[in-house]
Amino acid sequence: MQYEAYDWIEPAINTIRRADWYRSVQAISGTGAVVELEGKEVVNFASNDYLGLAGDDRLIKSAIAATIELGTGSTGSRLLSGHRELHRQLECAIASLKQTEDALVFSSGYLANIGAISAIVGKRDLILADTYNHSCLKNGAVLSGATVIDYPHNDVEVLDNLLSQQRANFRRCLIITDSVFSMDGDLCPLPQLSDLALQFNCMLLIDEAHATGVFGATGAGCAEHFGVANSHLIQVGTLSKALGSLGGFVAGSKLLIDFLRNRAATWIYTTALSPAATAAALSAIAIIDSEPQRRQQLWTNVAYLKQQLPLPIIDSDSAIICCQYSSASLAMQAASKLKNAGIFAPAIRPPTVPTSRIRFSVMATHQHEHIEKLIAALQDIKTL
Ligand SMILES: *Cc1c(COP(=O)(O)O)cnc(C)c1O
Repeated sequence: MQYEAYDWIEPAINTIRRADWYRSVQAISGTGAVVELEGKEVVNFASNDYLGLAGDDRLIKSAIAATIELGTGSTGSRLLSGHRELHRQLECAIASLKQTEDALVFSSGYLANIGAISAIVGKRDLILADTYNHSCLKNGAVLSGATVIDYPHNDVEVLDNLLSQQRANFRRCLIITDSVFSMDGDLCPLPQLSDLALQFNCMLLIDEAHATGVFGATGAGCAEHFGVANSHLIQVGTLSKALGSLGGFVAGSKLLIDFLRNRAATWIYTTALSPAATAAALSAIAIIDSEPQRRQQLWTNVAYLKQQLPLPIIDSDSAIICCQYSSASLAMQAASKLKNAGIFAPAIRPPTVPTSRIRFSVMATHQHEHIEKLIAALQDIKTL
């Protein structure tokens, strides 16, 4: 008898292909503003390495030194055999950057969000979530077992109404939002969200993945950028974007962090961050503190690209700039033409986003000529 239990997979993949939603990986060599893709040099507009730190000698050297001293793996979870002094140093550095009482380092930003959300709310609670939130906020909300209500993207009025109608029916309430929306590049209305959280006695969790190291005078993120007091915020972030390493964190009050150390399953039951990743992130935070010119250069590059772009873009206030296309197949064609012209930028399609687009991430280490090259290439494919 033939085994048929997996026969559904092939037709499922074919359905994905027919919708032009099929995805596969592309190997890149090198790191930084110019990388090699399929044997060809391309200017990299696909990286989250906003400050160019992933290839920085100082991060590399500290990762090597930590590996030589402590080994390649942390060999256990933090509460058992995995905790090193280096982890605590990194947590103190994050708390100092974020100006919070404490911080906790996770193995990725994804795990930090899932762990934090599912630890602090449960069945008797309410989560109000922006519809454009990152996958890990959505999945953290599902895992928590709380009642989840989505509000339309950045719509403070609807959120206000929902709180008026619903808040009293639940024990705790948590508002969750990206601070910089990862696939659009716009910002959440943090001051208004913060006011609503205070007014309705809600916790407010912001995902600073694309803001940490980039926004604010000291690189602390959107809370600093908006001048919102962060004592009532839960700030989640990643070490893998502007910090050029791997891992995630939650920053907040001492009590919150203490609670997460006791209740966040994705922190308790997983292996501690590797010495190399921990040391690299620690170096990155020191550079973010001592070299504000990197942030300035990034914003100069962003302003120049926005001013010169020959195509309409989705509203953006960040280093993420998207050109919208009317179909997945047009976006794919545009990405492929850009690749031929020596520009690497991905097409982002449903189901990741509601509408197809090409997404450009600007880096501080892009040279003027790199941005010129992108503008010229876009000029050529204007009418697809
Ligand atoms: C990248 C990203 C994450 C996940 O961070 P990782 O450290 O890569 O797991 C979480 N939230 C947002 C908004 C992101 O863009």
